Amino acid sequence: MGFIRNWRRRRVLKNARLDDALWSKVTSTLSFLRGLTDKESWRLRELVLLFLSEKEMHGAGTFVLADEVRLSIAVQACLPILNLGLDVYDSWVGVIVYPGEFRVRKEEMDADGVVHTTDEGLAGEAWPGGPVVLSWEDVGLSERGYNVVIHEFAHKIHMDGGGDQDFPAERPGMNPERWRETLEASYQSFCADVDADRPTFIDPYAAEHPAEFFAVMSEAFFTESAVLARDWPDLYRQLALFYRQDPAGRG
Ligand SMILES: [Zn+2]
Repeated sequence: MGFIRNWRRRRVLKNARLDDALWSKVTSTLSFLRGLTDKESWRLRELVLLFLSEKEMHGAGTFVLADEVRLSIAVQACLPILNLGLDVYDSWVGVIVYPGEFRVRKEEMDADGVVHTTDEGLAGEAWPGGPVVLSWEDVGLSERGYNVVIHEFAHKIHMDGGGDQDFPAERPGMNPERWRETLEASYQSFCADVDADRPTFIDPYAAEHPAEFFAVMSEAFFTESAVLARDWPDLYRQLALFYRQDPAGRG
């Protein structure tokens, strides 16, 4: 399996072409890519080529995906796995893109056995072992500290890897207690800030659930790294070990 896959990937990289002008256009709008070294940019490009070849990206309904849309999503999806490799995304193939917020109907039974139906508008959603769903309008709203693509792919990295429903497992070579304790303590401290109405630089949505905390902090790790490293140094260090990147250290 590994041999065939490697052979196939080498062939894709040899034959696939990326439009240089489009690459420059798309990456120039993503300010958090600016510190990448030439070597890292090249690796990102290769991952993006493989991502576009192995994953299936579809527009929902009649929404036709322009090359720019595909490339932008692929670039942002591949940044978190720059030093982990595409195999992290092995267990699924689909990315579904809606032009704007999409509505999801959910039914949940409460403790009394009453079923509540909710209908909410979402910017993104990630299914365990299944597709990532994104709203292109919300992808375009990304700013420092807010990035729906990185958010949903952080969920994928979490839910399709080891770990429990709160947090992903540490990577080989990491101290498991240090990883877990840092995430738990940071989450508690963040929730205390939100409960006390103290202003949080990070989106208060991170207090919803430990898994959301991980996804939101991953957004900040890649798109507002200097601030995360300053305000949450222990968490930053653990995420740097987890993603095997040091975005705040990039000039
Ligand atoms: Zn989420």
